[in-house]
Amino acid sequence: MLSVALVACAARQPKMEDECLYSPSKTQFAFWSNVAEQMEVLIYGETDSYETVPLTKGANDFWTATVKGDLAGKFYTVRSFQNGEWSLESPGIFAKAVSVNGQKAAIIDFAKTNPEGWDADVRPAMPDMTDIVVYETHLRDFTMSPYSGVEHKGKFLGLTEEAPLNYLKELGITHLQILPFFDYGSIDETTLGKNRYNWGYDPVNYNAPEGGYSTNPLDPSVRILEAKQMIQALHKAGIRVIMDVVYNHTYDVMGCALGRVVPQYFYRLNEDGTYANGSGCGNETASDHEMYRKFMVESVCYWAREYHIDGFRFDLMGIHDQETMRQIRAALDEIDPTILTYGEGWAAMSPAYPYEELAMKQWTYKMPRVGAFSDDIRNALIGSPFDHDPGFASGNPAGVKDVMRGLIACPEWSGEPMQHVSYITCHDNYCLRDRIEVSTKDVNEETRLRMNKLAQTAVLVSQGMSFLYGGEELYRTKQGIDNSYQSPDSINIIPWENLEKYADLHEYYKQMIAIRRAHKGFRLGSAEAVQKHVEFLDADNDQVIVYRIKDLEGIDTAKSLLVFLNGSAEEATVTMPEAEGNYVLLAYDGHANAEGLDFASHEQETVAPYSATIIAEYPQPEEE
Ligand code: CA
Repeated sequence: MLSVALVACAARQPKMEDECLYSPSKTQFAFWSNVAEQMEVLIYGETDSYETVPLTKGANDFWTATVKGDLAGKFYTVRSFQNGEWSLESPGIFAKAVSVNGQKAAIIDFAKTNPEGWDADVRPAMPDMTDIVVYETHLRDFTMSPYSGVEHKGKFLGLTEEAPLNYLKELGITHLQILPFFDYGSIDETTLGKNRYNWGYDPVNYNAPEGGYSTNPLDPSVRILEAKQMIQALHKAGIRVIMDVVYNHTYDVMGCALGRVVPQYFYRLNEDGTYANGSGCGNETASDHEMYRKFMVESVCYWAREYHIDGFRFDLMGIHDQETMRQIRAALDEIDPTILTYGEGWAAMSPAYPYEELAMKQWTYKMPRVGAFSDDIRNALIGSPFDHDPGFASGNPAGVKDVMRGLIACPEWSGEPMQHVSYITCHDNYCLRDRIEVSTKDVNEETRLRMNKLAQTAVLVSQGMSFLYGGEELYRTKQGIDNSYQSPDSINIIPWENLEKYADLHEYYKQMIAIRRAHKGFRLGSAEAVQKHVEFLDADNDQVIVYRIKDLEGIDTAKSLLVFLNGSAEEATVTMPEAEGNYVLLAYDGHANAEGLDFASHEQETVAPYSATIIAEYPQPEEE
């Protein structure tokens, strides 16, 4: 009976997101701490002078106060007293508006942070979740180039401009995944003129946008307004927005809100009392602790509601426990079940929590509708990040079996195919051009471009969810740097000037995206359907994969789809299966066209070296 009473009590808990509730007549504060003996809020004006407001301990370890009057424009911090001393000041763990560099929380009227027409902003229609093609980018990568055509370079507002939006629309992607744009610590927002670059995987305030991407980080409202303007513009262009979230660690412990006011609670500790370090960044958070789990659930829901975010990519998701991911999924479903969730099903080092309970890739099937990046298909196609060996697409026959598993979305761990994020590159490790270059010797650029297209073709015909690293379609290089997290813009920018020089590559990516989106057969959507419709035929060649999706009446415009992937330097000849309809060539020898390139043979077809041949079998037109 006691446990039932405790559960009922927990259900009535105040929300962590309500740390500061502003109205023109009063502001209410509420902070959680289970160890404080005293707590107080320090309210700052424009200067460093402040007024202290004591907080009173109420139910569920929430400490509250109400301050009368209009506090808009003021800032605050909170601190706690325990073990004989006051903690460092903190903006609170759920600061939604912050001062420059995020050291204080700001009291603002959120009603004034909405761009014009915000109430009418809606998520672009997503009638079929298998349509998803994600494109990952960093705000600076995408906009800093002098060839980008963007005026507000490196800013949220850059992605409200016509040139980048039209580019993404024409490419045919559905979702834009943006590297961290919550408030992070590695860029000094007071010296933005220095043009420093960082990926941003160093969270300071989880629930406020990063000031470096705003046109004025000194005004706490501006970054909020401009982040919303970006999302609104992308939505108008028909593109959904995925936020890269990094709940697994903080920039440091005592420098960040999580570590200051409630000592240790939000982190996992080693047996000797030191901070565990599954992130490899000096600490790991404790999603298994009730109040951090609650924090994560509320935080993603806050971004989904307040900013209309359409999806979340969880950094080092393997540090979080499965139950937290399931609760996040359930909470987002109440807002909109089409909000996407996926992440990295691994950690950097061993987390201090039982492996079987963690949100590791291996247990993806235990977290319905939460996806995980497939290092299986990545390593099989282009080689692992831990060596320089080639993969299937760059001439290594050892990858064949794993490419085949990746094409059917690794059912042994993914549960459903859309939980398998099919990809070969992302911001981490080498970009595709550089990865192929380090693993191929005595090979010319023409051949490397073939390998590039072949690898990406396999991603785009895989039954998993398609994920592309932005700029691969423009043959980006990072000059051989495999960890460009703080490399200069010159390394990280997308080379828009290549749009002409590598027009053929760009067109191929665009057509392959169109082919995927035109053919439901490449994205059957359920493990059951994949098992029923997919088969691999014998190619008499250990470097050729023959992937067939058949019996598609009522599912696709094609009766069947045939994909030949040739990972060798020799042309291959493949015998065609019998067909009732017409065979139409969609891709051949590095060219692709969703409308069809030509008719294909019913007897034998060829597959050019390091390339894909894709054929659709369309029904014969009815005779008059
Ligand atoms: Ca910042």
